[in-house]
Amino acid sequence: MSTRGAIALPTPESGWWGRYHHTDSYPAGLGRELYRLYHHTFERDHTAMAQTLIADHPAGWSCLLYLGDDASGPFTRADFDLSGFVGASSPIRGHYPACYCHGQRNEPAQRLTCRCPRDQNGCGPIDIEWAYVLTAEGMWVITSHTADHHRPVHRFVDRVIWEEAEPDWRRMEQDVRTGALPAGDDVASPSRQASSD
Ligand SMILES: [Zn+2]
Ligand SMILES: [Zn+2]
Repeated sequence: MSTRGAIALPTPESGWWGRYHHTDSYPAGLGRELYRLYHHTFERDHTAMAQTLIADHPAGWSCLLYLGDDASGPFTRADFDLSGFVGASSPIRGHYPACYCHGQRNEPAQRLTCRCPRDQNGCGPIDIEWAYVLTAEGMWVITSHTADHHRPVHRFVDRVIWEEAEPDWRRMEQDVRTGALPAGDDVASPSRQASSD
């Protein structure tokens, strides 16, 4: 299922920039997977995680979720070394993370930069429904879902602290979709809440 997302870093202007992620980017999909990758694959090193997920694959990702047996995932660092796009008929489809810059794709770098709410003409990547901003302390969850009468804007949903218990990802998404999350139209940007990095 295509749910547009971004894997991102804070910017000095108190917003975020990142790389596109195409498949299952809602909290119970990509959000949960990033939490797993931090703990299992990148062994609590958010710098190494950002290097692999953001710097090394500048065209972004089709899918970096491990979709096999849960106990066998997430993808390992060795798997990430073999990242690349393969066609739907390939026997190794889904065996490695699928990006748009390696394998059968050679697409140019794409930098998604959120300009909410400073730019009143709207944010470039506003069609990014979910963004996950990686920091040393945790991961800020951002969404562009909003009540119908509000103009779309990226807003802060939650901060997931790496060393705290894993959140209820489905509930997080439900709270956004049902409007349980207060629908102010200003973004609490991640770096305004984080004092550093
Ligand atoms: Zn790549
Ligand atoms: Zn934005």
